Amino acid sequence: MNDDEKRFAVVLREFTRTLTIEFSIQGILDHLVGQIVEVFPEFGAGVTLISNDLRANYVAASSDAALGYEQLQSKLKKGPRFLAYRSGESVGVPDLLGDYRFPVFGPAAGAGGLAAVFTFLLRHGDGCIGALNLYGDTAGLLSVDEMVTAEAMVNAVAACLINAEAREQADAGYLHDPLTGLPNLAFLMDRIHEVNERAMRSRLSTAAYFVDVDRFKLVNDHHGQHVGDELLIAVARRFSNLLRGEDTVARISGDEFVFLCEDLADEDEAATIGRRIEEAFERPFVIGGLRLSMSASIGTAVAGVGEAVSNDLIVRANMAMYRIKRHWGGRPHVVGKVDSALNSGPQNFEQEIRQALKRNSLSMAYQPIVRMSDNVMSGVEALLRWDHPTRGKIPPMLLVGVAERSPLINQLGGWVLERSCAALAAWQNGDRAAPIGIAVNVSARQLVSGDFFRTVGHTLEVADLDPTRLVLELTENLLIEDSHRALKVLRDLRRLGVWISVDDFGTGYSSLSYLTRLPIDILKIDQSLISGITGGPEAVVVSAVTNLAHELGMVVVAEGVENTAQRDEVVRVGCDYAQGYYFGEPMSETAIKAIDWASPLPHDLPNAAAT
Ligand code: C2E
Ligand code: MG
Ligand code: MG
Repeated sequence: MNDDEKRFAVVLREFTRTLTIEFSIQGILDHLVGQIVEVFPEFGAGVTLISNDLRANYVAASSDAALGYEQLQSKLKKGPRFLAYRSGESVGVPDLLGDYRFPVFGPAAGAGGLAAVFTFLLRHGDGCIGALNLYGDTAGLLSVDEMVTAEAMVNAVAACLINAEAREQADAGYLHDPLTGLPNLAFLMDRIHEVNERAMRSRLSTAAYFVDVDRFKLVNDHHGQHVGDELLIAVARRFSNLLRGEDTVARISGDEFVFLCEDLADEDEAATIGRRIEEAFERPFVIGGLRLSMSASIGTAVAGVGEAVSNDLIVRANMAMYRIKRHWGGRPHVVGKVDSALNSGPQNFEQEIRQALKRNSLSMAYQPIVRMSDNVMSGVEALLRWDHPTRGKIPPMLLVGVAERSPLINQLGGWVLERSCAALAAWQNGDRAAPIGIAVNVSARQLVSGDFFRTVGHTLEVADLDPTRLVLELTENLLIEDSHRALKVLRDLRRLGVWISVDDFGTGYSSLSYLTRLPIDILKIDQSLISGITGGPEAVVVSAVTNLAHELGMVVVAEGVENTAQRDEVVRVGCDYAQGYYFGEPMSETAIKAIDWASPLPHDLPNAAAT
């Protein structure tokens, strides 16, 4: 390590440490400029974050002079920062006064003593969220080491800011899907409570529409994910235009949307809205020169006057959708009384889950997790499956979402844990030390209710497993709500030797700073970040998050790796493990058993029908 590299390592460590104390956007920026001028004492530093319309949002500076230069650029809308925004690249201005590119900003800032500027972009997605400027009062170049150092710091900061931003939005109660900007499943579930309260007071009905875009997968497969994404955005836009005042439309998974509409006078009105949703597909979607004629399967469920509105309503709409899909095979159809669940009366989905548990009709699928250093399958993630005899595959999120609203989640979660541990024990075949593990998803509700710690201990004992072979995956949103209790359970579990993993990092509440307070061993970077990692600026974010996670002593797993290019990139940015269709889809217990765990994986694992 040369001196600059040493200084950088110290700064990054310090910066990471301060994140544990400071996680507001302004706080992060203030720290950035403070740390930067320690590494570059001969410079002043300024950073400005921008909104889409290029108006300055947040500013931090190491001195009054640096603040002045930031403001001058914002006011003129000219200067190195704006050149960087336009070109999408860092800008070096070793001799400001002699630089023809800045005829306005140059002389104005030069009059204040500015002689050199070096600008580094803070990137996010396809664009940038702002820039850091180093201001020098003597002309001269930065060394390559200095450039690399500044770039690396800025990238780390960009990742933290994106997380801070997500957290601030989440704090504001806004949970949305980053692709379409629509509310997500979590938002919808929160919303249901409010709707229920209102519905109980009013004399009107509420309807849910479960919309599944037919043959969406074909669009993705034939035209690429980029076109698929654009299509979803276009669908979301048409849906948004349909909304009346209090209606909600959420994107709850890939190509599935849910409308929740309140205050309906009668079932006819409900059917009318269903037709309007369907009409949104009458015109083709034009995407990048392609004309795509799409249709959708729409299932409806109505909660009548005086009937409670709960997750059941969405589940019923989901089931109606499956019935319709089966019946119509995805051809366009008109939603009316006959095809919808309007007449099927309230069903107790919870009751159905209970029965499925009792009759053993739930199952588990297991997806390989592969170590990047040697391409060996080192473990699997256990995923819940319910292939309903008449209603088709129920998405696990929906199943878990409903179970979570009652103590049923403990029973369901207990079952998942038992099955998963038994499967692992069978694969290990008596060798407790076999170098393989299993990751089990745990709903945060489950973590803090009942006696989760004892359940885990007991299950491990019964299966005769070493606790270090078990990973528990949690999404951190509910940890925030009940962090005191959760923290205690997590600490106890970790003392037992169980690994704690944070799932879906990068999707919502995710905040590295928050995570540093929890006992966490593994960070799973969400598929949405991995899908844009090749060539996309997501690479920078994933790389920075990975570095920070490593600094904090965590292991990093990339989720949703689908092709060679993504795999290569994941390796390049330093993720330790990866999971995704590229390595293997979720498959049955026997299919996993057939894999030779100790040797490097071939890329075409059997794709069992267990998904
Ligand atoms: P998760 O824990 O993030 O699981 C990963 C999801 O990504 C799985 O979806 C998996 O099938 C899917 N996946 C894996 N590789 C790829 C890929 O290369 N591309 C794409 N597009 N997707 C991929 P699945 O099985 O539908 O599960 C969805 C979520 O449901 C899980 O997300 C988890 O949050 C929840 N879940 C599943 N099983 C359980 C369970 O037993 N208990 C609890 N509490 N939650 C569960
Ligand atoms: Mg998971
Ligand atoms: Mg995940």
